[in-house]
Amino acid sequence: MEVTVARQYGFCFGVRRAIQIADELSAPLTTYGPLVHNPYEVSRLEGKGVKSSLDIQEIKTPNILVRAHGITPSVMEELKLKGKVIDGTCPLVKKVHGIAQMLDKNGYKILIFGQKSHPETIGTQGYIGNRADVIHNTQEAENFSGDYDKIALISQTTEIIGEFNEVVAILLKKYPHLRVIDTICEPTKENQNAAVELAKESDLVVVVGGKNSSNTRKLMLNCEKITRAVHIESPEELDKLDFSGVKILGLTSGASTPDWLFDKVVIKAKELAK
Ligand code: SF4
Repeated sequence: MEVTVARQYGFCFGVRRAIQIADELSAPLTTYGPLVHNPYEVSRLEGKGVKSSLDIQEIKTPNILVRAHGITPSVMEELKLKGKVIDGTCPLVKKVHGIAQMLDKNGYKILIFGQKSHPETIGTQGYIGNRADVIHNTQEAENFSGDYDKIALISQTTEIIGEFNEVVAILLKKYPHLRVIDTICEPTKENQNAAVELAKESDLVVVVGGKNSSNTRKLMLNCEKITRAVHIESPEELDKLDFSGVKILGLTSGASTPDWLFDKVVIKAKELAK
């Protein structure tokens, strides 16, 4: 069995940046919510004295780090009352906040392709008084109605390109004047494209990431449209997999998976392949 690794995988630029800030700041530090959806990386940070809390009243440390997904302006104000806030919001998320504000100011009805409960979408909504409607799938796009002279669609930065395009096609039939601004970020697109290329060449793709990581699940969905794919969280889970008939094993990881964890999976997979 040959083991291949996707040409791009793992932490996106924004998450890598936020983790670097957490590593460089000295504890005690609290992050407003977990920095990544990965239990191993969260416990590594906890070992360094980095706490995580979404309950502002519970935060007791002088330094508070905002994670890459960003927050609403009102939460930012509340956090500032508790201590020194270090803004780890990804610049690409900030760009989306700016686009949403520009559209809102110019009288557009805004639609966001994404998840209502995702912290990034909640943060973006906070910049436009929660006036956007959130569409999560093609069915919701079909069901959306109303008369709007000015209407625009943006996306959560981590969404799947193909699904965004499907939603665009449905909405354009109802609103030919729809203004579409594709705000899925380049690192997300690159990870998705690299995973698809890997899946085309592999008999089995193993996607490494937290079970609670939505971007890992999305990579998995992309891969299993093409070949057999499984989602694992730790190297030990490789022992339970069935490699019969697998000539080429592809490995990739979600944007919240640390390199040190992925490297362990690669080493173990290569041992199993001997
Ligand atoms: Fe930034 Fe993209 Fe990562 Fe979101 S997914 S934090 S926009 S690099």
